[in-house]
Amino acid sequence: METSPSAAWNEVWAATCKAVEDKIVPSLVRTWILPAELTNTVESQNSAEIELTAPNDFTANWILDHYKATLESTLSQLSGKACVLKVLSRGDQVVDEAPLVVHRSPEAAPVLAYAEVSPETKAIAAGLDPRFTFDNFIVGASNQFGNASAFAVAERPGQQYNPLFLYSSPGLGKTHLLHAVGNYVLRKFPRYRVHYVSAENFVNELVDSLQRHKMPQFRAKYRESFDVLLIDDIQFIAAKKQTEEEFFHTFNALYGAKRQIVVTSDRPPKEIENLEERIRTRFEWGLVGDIAPPEIETRIAILKSKAEREDIYVPDDVATFIATHIRSNVRELEGILIRLQAQASLTGAEISLEMAREELKGQVPEEGHSVTVESIQAAVAEHFQVRVADLRSHIRSQPTALARQIAVYLVRKYTKLPLKEIGQHFGGKDHSTLNHALKKIERELESDPAIQASIQAIQNYL
Ligand code: ADP
Ligand code: MG
Repeated sequence: METSPSAAWNEVWAATCKAVEDKIVPSLVRTWILPAELTNTVESQNSAEIELTAPNDFTANWILDHYKATLESTLSQLSGKACVLKVLSRGDQVVDEAPLVVHRSPEAAPVLAYAEVSPETKAIAAGLDPRFTFDNFIVGASNQFGNASAFAVAERPGQQYNPLFLYSSPGLGKTHLLHAVGNYVLRKFPRYRVHYVSAENFVNELVDSLQRHKMPQFRAKYRESFDVLLIDDIQFIAAKKQTEEEFFHTFNALYGAKRQIVVTSDRPPKEIENLEERIRTRFEWGLVGDIAPPEIETRIAILKSKAEREDIYVPDDVATFIATHIRSNVRELEGILIRLQAQASLTGAEISLEMAREELKGQVPEEGHSVTVESIQAAVAEHFQVRVADLRSHIRSQPTALARQIAVYLVRKYTKLPLKEIGQHFGGKDHSTLNHALKKIERELESDPAIQASIQAIQNYL
């Protein structure tokens, strides 16, 4: 027997929307679930079919794709009946082209992205940052290959270079280009399904799916529902057996169906340690390219473009000064610009060369003054109130361990000594321990203000 939703069901639905906030991020509940309305319920003694109507096909499919199981279990719990969810769409969309994705298992979502949803909305849904585009990527000799290959892939996904493998040291635009591919594809091919994920999140999602017995859904999602899959920092899957196994099958499924795969890494395939050979070879099937640190003209152009976009006035001599001294990381270049801007607005003064000099003090070794391993160890020991001898030992307790990692980072940065030699100054640490320390500090420098402040303070002593 069919009824319009009764007051009781409306209450169950309202309670469900609240309850799922524990399982789904509240902002996503607001974006995807709240816009849907409870429009009908068909009840029998022990079960109920719950009909929702979403504002458009895109949202309807999104709910089915991502939240069906969660909603069904919550509805069942709250109503005491086995609930089955059906989601309709209010907008009648006409599909004017054959969908790109034709074969799906029942687990895979019956999804097509429709032209009516704005590219920004779709970008966010795809995990993309709409701010990273080809338009605002400054091209010079160093990154020309990376830019051109990414653009070619975005123009003709799955048809030319597959997979595309881009690598570089940190801060040179890999993530930017990956997002640019996704954003461009969504504009050019409004119904393609694009997905961006960091390898780290891919691993987390896999672990989560294993724990919750959701592997069929995980597999359907990655193997069958995307036309373009973008995975950032793929080196992260190395030495994780089960992840590599899943990735291998994901890769094969997508590759076999001519879907585009783009991955980035901090090093070329053959240098990723502990990566399964069969995955390494697959990376080499397509196009492998690197991004080198930008040359001075490109660095100046990046600074100016960023300043213009942020509406910051930077005199030419300042741009040149910064670009001369910050050479190997665009993220750092941008960071300085933002700090100068902050200072200018605090003091009400315009950004000047003096201000820039002051800001870069410590990062720019003064002439005639050389920074040595010993001077760095002494400055770090002083800052953390530990003994220099401990930095050279194997003591693992805090703060010695952190101090040592920071010292390693600074020694690498200022002396450019080979890792092997650096290890000798730190009690014979091996290559992988040092790499781990460098990575960790680089990561924390981006996210942890306390670490940023410590390093800044130490640099000022040097
Ligand atoms: P990676 O992923 O290689 O570590 P990102 O893509 O995160 O580097 O880049 C770091 C920052 O530098 C981002 O804000 C990015 O927009 C910017 N950036 C890097 N290269 C360029 C470029 N050629 N033009 C404009 N911005 C760039
Ligand atoms: Mg990145």
